[in-house]
Amino acid sequence: MDLTLSDRHRALRADLREFIARHGHRSPPVGGGGGRKRPDQRVLDWQSLLIEHGFAARSVPTRYGGYGAEHDVLDAALITEAFNAAGISLGIQGQGIRMLVPTLLEVGNEEQRRRWIGPTIRGELHWAQGYSEPEAGSDLASLRTRAHVEDGNFVINGQKIWTSSAHYADMMFLLVRTEPDRPKHLGISYLLLPMATSGIEVRPLATMTGHATFNEVFFTDVRLPTDQIVLGRGDGWKVANVTLKHERMLLGDSSKLVHRLHRLRALLAETVVDGAPLLSRPVWRDRFLRLQGEVLAGKYHQMRLLSEASRDQDSGLGLLVVKYYGTTLAWRLATLAVDALGEAGLAYEPHDEVGEDSAATAWYADWMYDLGLIIGGGSSNIQKNIIAERGLGMPREPKPMGGA
Ligand SMILES: Cc1cc2nc3c(=O)[nH]c(=O)nc-3n(C[C@H](O)[C@H](O)[C@H](O)COP(=O)(O)OP(=O)(O)OC[C@H]3O[C@@H](n4cnc5c(N)ncnc54)[C@H](O)[C@@H]3O)c2cc1C
Repeated sequence: MDLTLSDRHRALRADLREFIARHGHRSPPVGGGGGRKRPDQRVLDWQSLLIEHGFAARSVPTRYGGYGAEHDVLDAALITEAFNAAGISLGIQGQGIRMLVPTLLEVGNEEQRRRWIGPTIRGELHWAQGYSEPEAGSDLASLRTRAHVEDGNFVINGQKIWTSSAHYADMMFLLVRTEPDRPKHLGISYLLLPMATSGIEVRPLATMTGHATFNEVFFTDVRLPTDQIVLGRGDGWKVANVTLKHERMLLGDSSKLVHRLHRLRALLAETVVDGAPLLSRPVWRDRFLRLQGEVLAGKYHQMRLLSEASRDQDSGLGLLVVKYYGTTLAWRLATLAVDALGEAGLAYEPHDEVGEDSAATAWYADWMYDLGLIIGGGSSNIQKNIIAERGLGMPREPKPMGGA
């Protein structure tokens, strides 16, 4: 990885400084706690501004509505660093932009890319991910929601659960069993379904944050034209894994860790107990610096992965650790903040608007929601199995009797 800044990178840095000085005040508030509601006009305007300047959808080709720059690991790092330092939003980071768009770029057909990528990166279309079912979470390939073909349509019946954002999503990318006679991994298809289709019922589920950020979704004879499939019938497992790769990078993203580290430092510097800021006290300082070291290790690890990806190199084990490392570390950063805030957490109040959160509410929302992200997208136990088996070549875990 070459981190030397070229003239072009120095020019980008100057552009970033100018952009932030001129437009930074237009950024929507940065906040966590999951997707609470549909982005408002301020978020959409900010997203358009970022795409126009090449600070979002930077390497998405212009023919699909992106900025069309060559992918460059240092460009991405400079943008993220400047936005984090200024405390402004990096734009919409939902399942559509961060998971479906790269999937379509990798395995979608031209018609699907032209139709779905533009409105998704602009934040006009929101996507939910229909993978998990009551009996199929870690063992996702056991999913039972089924679809058969009738008059040029898939007819879908079944149930999904823990579907984030389904209560305001326009579209869902979902996995269904279309080939029940084939082995379970080979019988799945990946479909693109408008949520307004008749026969879909969404029932919100509240989390301990007090927000209903995910849902149960029921399908009764839902009809979808058969061309709304990514790759072919029975290829769904392959497509699902492309999306999962991007999901795990999103969930373990080090830019979130760096942003959170900046916030944590400010909190410990502002929290004064017995006349001294917590950051100046050895025990708190020690806890903070250990976490800072881990965040920086995560940041440089991901830069190495990005530079390997841009050279089409396989990062192997390096890629497999990102989700586990990033989600557990994000939660540990929030845990230190919660320890510092102490009883301030009693004033926790769930709000729909991130901008209404007090500092304590924002930290508690992050702490509670991010505990879930250690499970979502593949739990830590499953990540450890993957790291051991696929990354380190250790023996596969024994399957229970009758398991596939
Ligand atoms: C905040 C959040 C958001 C989510 N959003 C979505 C979404 O948008 N769309 C979607 O489809 N799903 C979503 N999920 C669901 C998520 O993907 C599943 O919760 C996850 O895959 C685990 O499945 P499960 O809940 O059925 O748990 P189970 O699979 O029943 O696992 C229960 C426990 O057993 C452990 N376990 C299971 N199998 C093994 C094994 N072989 N070895 C060791 N330990 C094992 C697990 O680690 C876990 O601790 C979300 C979950 C959360 C928490």
